[in-house]
Amino acid sequence: MIMKKKNLRVAIVVPVYNESEVVRQFFTRLLKTVDQLPYTFSFYFIDDGSSDPTPGTLASLVKKDRRLVPITLSRNFGHQAALSAGLDLAAGDVVITMDGDGQHPPEMIPQMLDLILQGYDVVQTQRMDQALPPSFKKWTSGLFYRLINAISGTHVLPGTADFRALSRQAVDALKSMPEYHRFLRGMVSWIGFKTIILPYEPRERLSGTSKYSLGKMFRLAMDAVFSFSLAPLYIGLSLGLLLFCLAAMEMVYVLSFWITGQTSNLARGWSSLMFVILIVGGMLMALLGFIGVYVGYIFQEVKKRPVYLIRKDEDDGG
Ligand code: UDP
Ligand code: MG
Repeated sequence: MIMKKKNLRVAIVVPVYNESEVVRQFFTRLLKTVDQLPYTFSFYFIDDGSSDPTPGTLASLVKKDRRLVPITLSRNFGHQAALSAGLDLAAGDVVITMDGDGQHPPEMIPQMLDLILQGYDVVQTQRMDQALPPSFKKWTSGLFYRLINAISGTHVLPGTADFRALSRQAVDALKSMPEYHRFLRGMVSWIGFKTIILPYEPRERLSGTSKYSLGKMFRLAMDAVFSFSLAPLYIGLSLGLLLFCLAAMEMVYVLSFWITGQTSNLARGWSSLMFVILIVGGMLMALLGFIGVYVGYIFQEVKKRPVYLIRKDEDDGG
């Protein structure tokens, strides 16, 4: 969607959880970049149920800058939920989501907005992990992207964090996906639209420690796998087919004894017992697989994702 440079309204959405150490510093750095741009900015800081002085810090920042809109969630719902709250509430022609710990460089915002003005709907940044020294986080992240891309129909580029600019129509498309288990990286890839990838060098956190505990990382991976892939449901079906193949192989094996007249070498009862085990196992697994397929269909229906999304390309003045 082509947008006009004049009067462009940009909303910046920042989820923060226990970030009182960094939020002030981050906001100052953000303003240094955006205040040089000729657009109208608003800042939506989503306090994801912080238990530290983050809410107070946000309140004092609002007093200094009225463009900051603080939103407080009733408890810690998690990064993806906080981002979703921001996307739902943010008004503007463009919405940029980024972390509040300084790891997503605000200096990239001018370039991201240029690309949006050129007609891109999704400007997705990609962290260049190769530059990072080996670490647990880098290793699990690499493994995660390989897994999700192997089993899901939606491609998610490695290192694509929740740092991106979205046009209004892309935001509205995301808002039309009311699913509960949210994996925004997958959802943004799923909606399509004109997308461009912008690589960046990873930064250190300004201060404090990661708010993504191991448990939260695991939950995000679960949400990604189970809401973007039905592959686990097909395991039963595949196992059933495998057992049927084994049963067929066993039949050929037993027959070979009959053909060569060596039936005396076969243990009594082994053939029939083995055959029954394999066939019954295969049948059970296949049936479980069929149920899996139905559950998969039900699952896709209850997610209530739109069947299609329409892209507006012409500048229709709206
Ligand atoms: N965050 C959040 N809720 C959470 C965990 C994290 O809103 O439950 C925020 C956090 O304050 C930060 C962003 O999400 O602005 C990314 O989290 P973090 O920097 O801790 O993750 P990492 O960079 O280590 O993956
Ligand atoms: Mg971080």
